[in-house]
Amino acid sequence: MTLNHPGENKWRHQGWFAAHRWLLLRRTSQLLVLGIFLVGPLTGFWLVKGNLASSLTLGTLPLTDPYVLLQTLATGHVAEATAFAGAAIVLVFYLLVGGRLYCSWVCPVNMVTDTAEWLRRRLQIKANRIKLNRATRYWILVLTFVLPLLTGALVWELVNPVSLLFRGIIFGIGAVWVVVLAIFLFDLCLSQRGWCRHLCPVGAFYSLLGYISLVRIGAVRREHCDDCMDCFTVCPETQVIKPALKGEKQTSPVIFSGNCTHCARCIDVCDKNVFSFTTRFSKKPNTHEIHQMEVTS
Ligand code: SF4
Ligand code: SF4
Repeated sequence: MTLNHPGENKWRHQGWFAAHRWLLLRRTSQLLVLGIFLVGPLTGFWLVKGNLASSLTLGTLPLTDPYVLLQTLATGHVAEATAFAGAAIVLVFYLLVGGRLYCSWVCPVNMVTDTAEWLRRRLQIKANRIKLNRATRYWILVLTFVLPLLTGALVWELVNPVSLLFRGIIFGIGAVWVVVLAIFLFDLCLSQRGWCRHLCPVGAFYSLLGYISLVRIGAVRREHCDDCMDCFTVCPETQVIKPALKGEKQTSPVIFSGNCTHCARCIDVCDKNVFSFTTRFSKKPNTHEIHQMEVTS
């Protein structure tokens, strides 16, 4: 078991880059998203106007967060046609690549919660002082629609840490650091992966898209699993792995849970190259295919 240094074996056998490739790509993606929005305020050239909730790229491509659009509709406001068009584009994208890809590849809060988890491992903090049910985030999600219905205001967006941090980075952090610090300390000291795994309604919304999305992670070489547990250690939603990795031979090795964030850390850390990106239609590879993968890995 390599509880404190998941991926150490892969690093040793296949090199540092192989053990961090997807992590590097994700961080690049998260920083790139921020960078694209920062170009306007910094240079006066508005590549993209707006924010994660609603934006216009090069004056032509509208993108709207469907979750924010639904909350807006719940307030009773009529949205513009471009908002619906932008939401449709975003919906199609996440229905293809996986809903919670938003969490791992776009959301700026993910960098905060990943850092808290990393530090938690380094400090060997194991206790969860607050025990939360994973369904809590779905109840909060419902609440974020009920409140606009009752008040006519976008209540959740006033306190949504994702929007606050994003706007804080682009337009000045202000008092947002208090919210960020609170989430960091909550995850570090009180509840492992507490915010994203149990509370955040944004992640809960995108997980619903993830249940039917095309691209998935699969334990396609699960026969090679040596039970080192590295994938369980790094996975932000541990519960999604077991059915695919430890299912009976006839069960699919594809992870069908919408809560897999497609962070690909399981691919990074697995020395046996058990995991890879695949699609929901992927079948268990036959012996010949497994042999081919062995030869090329
Ligand atoms: S669960 Fe929420 S805060 Fe966490 S990464 Fe996803 S959207 Fe961001
Ligand atoms: S199964 Fe893999 S890709 Fe999915 S959330 Fe866990 S570590 Fe990330």
